[in-house]
Amino acid sequence: MKTKLKHPLKILITAGPTREYLDPVRFISNESSGRMGFSLAQAASELGHNVVLISGPVALDTPKNVKRLDIVSCAELRSAVHHHAPDADVIFMVAAVADARPWQTSKHKLKKPLGHVKLRDNPDILSELGKNKKPGQVLVGFALETKKLIETAKEKRIAKNCDWIVGNTDQAIGAKETGVVLIGPDGMTTRLPVLPKHDLAVVILSHILG
Ligand code: C5P
Repeated sequence: MKTKLKHPLKILITAGPTREYLDPVRFISNESSGRMGFSLAQAASELGHNVVLISGPVALDTPKNVKRLDIVSCAELRSAVHHHAPDADVIFMVAAVADARPWQTSKHKLKKPLGHVKLRDNPDILSELGKNKKPGQVLVGFALETKKLIETAKEKRIAKNCDWIVGNTDQAIGAKETGVVLIGPDGMTTRLPVLPKHDLAVVILSHILG
């Protein structure tokens, strides 16, 4: 099922990793170049939509006409997302949020050994958005899986109350080209071919925005 949405849309996109610092020099993070989220931001802006891009630490230039906000931690991402989400028609949660953070961040470099450092789970921002989805809002999550991609992506779409899940494998990390699987509102599965990320972003948007 394709949705016809008004134009221009307010589109919120998150991209890149988050970092959870143990001390001034060490952090927990996820592998992510930010390219998929930035490609979506560029493609959406080229279509004339109003794009807010919230990005973790990446080495990428801001696409033209895109409002970019930089964050570092999951907590910062979470407050920026919840600030902008109520106003957004479509939200793409592309960010590779670190799953855990240390209970404490030390002001000074920790002395080894570090085996005593305790972690706590980060909040799942996408699930929070799913619980507070406003009428008509389209919520898109991403799922990177190393096995059972389609099955897991379908489960995540339902568990996180998303309209769409874009599933990909770890081959996508840092790559300039990738293929993805789209799981749509009716659970329907569409495989998109391997394409440069910008071209892929255009195809993803055409499926989701109609
Ligand atoms: O459960 P998993 O981390 O695989 O889910 C991935 C999706 O959830 C992505 O869209 C990611 O941006 C989002 N996510 C989130 N907050 C987290 C972890 C993941 O919003 N703490």
